[in-house]
Amino acid sequence: MKVPYFDIRAHYNGISKDLEKAFKTVLSGQRIILGPHLRQFEAQYADFSGTKYCVGVGSGLDAITLSLDAVGITRGDEVIVPSNAYIAALDAVSRLGATPVFVEPKEATYNIDPDLIEQAITKKTKAIIPVHFFGQACEMDPILSVSKKYKLNIVEDNAQSHGSTYKGKKTGSFGKANATSFYPTKNIGALGEAGAVTTNSKMIFNKISMLRNYGEKSKYENELIGYNSRLDELQAAFLLVKLKNIKQWTKKRVKIARLYSEGLKNIGDIKLPVTEKDVTNVFHIYPIRTKYRDSLQKYLFNKDIITSVHYPKPPYLQKAYSHLGYKKGSYPIAENLSSTSLSLPIYPEMKDVQVEYVIKSLIKFFFKQ
Ligand SMILES: *Cc1c(COP(=O)(O)O)cnc(C)c1O
Repeated sequence: MKVPYFDIRAHYNGISKDLEKAFKTVLSGQRIILGPHLRQFEAQYADFSGTKYCVGVGSGLDAITLSLDAVGITRGDEVIVPSNAYIAALDAVSRLGATPVFVEPKEATYNIDPDLIEQAITKKTKAIIPVHFFGQACEMDPILSVSKKYKLNIVEDNAQSHGSTYKGKKTGSFGKANATSFYPTKNIGALGEAGAVTTNSKMIFNKISMLRNYGEKSKYENELIGYNSRLDELQAAFLLVKLKNIKQWTKKRVKIARLYSEGLKNIGDIKLPVTEKDVTNVFHIYPIRTKYRDSLQKYLFNKDIITSVHYPKPPYLQKAYSHLGYKKGSYPIAENLSSTSLSLPIYPEMKDVQVEYVIKSLIKFFFKQ
């Protein structure tokens, strides 16, 4: 039996009629950029996120960059990011001339540890980027209270947790400007590059709407130094199809996660993902931890089970960030997660027999240890 990490063919086959219809509708329309499908998607994604506004942009990285720009992050500022962040958050901060400052995650949830934020704040700190990892919301109450105390902006990185909630409130609705990605393999994915910013602030909405389109206030009136980062009509039309299905897909992911968690209880040294009590997890990724990670990954590969590692190297150890001067050992929790985490296949089209095969193979591996 073959178990891919993500089955993009099965995913598209399930909705191919709707995707073809969406394509034809755009093809027969008059607008390709900033048209009716984008407006409709923005309205529906804002509604999905429980925010007043949404602005579609070109990618998740652009969504973070434009959000930071819109809240005023500039040269010399410091922005707090988790030490296990995906590189995009660091790149966005750095492109604005600001410096990322790291805070360790909680090992059990991979999400930023709110208790460690305060000690990382300096006079230069201007914002915090909580990254909602793997499908579960960060603990927002303590993050919001520290941000209030020091007057810091929150810019969520919600690329992996579309629809997750903290105390009943959706991710992407807590910060001043919140970024998400619709990269094809995300829970809501385009058929190319796409992202969005969600916000409750009219001012931020107006600013991002201008920034993504050369800073234009109206045609050929450029009020801000802009970007070109417009979510196109075709991707918006595809995303409308995806959005229609997201509830049902999330249910499947949650079901697979439950099967894994039941089947892998007390197996070897496996540590299963933990979901905090105030949070709903949409399981973009199902990570387990074991000190045998590398040999387990090879063993599963030889059984046609494809796994992944999110992420093999912490961002502050990447060559691109060597100028910051961090070394191995700077953030032990992030490094421990990098060397022990293994992401098991999880996607809505995954069959129960495939889940069972993965579980059985894991049990066999640990039986031999
Ligand atoms: C995918 C991802 C991004 C970047 O999104 P792109 O659309 O690829 O630019 C940013 N942050 C996290 C946590 C992601 O998973």
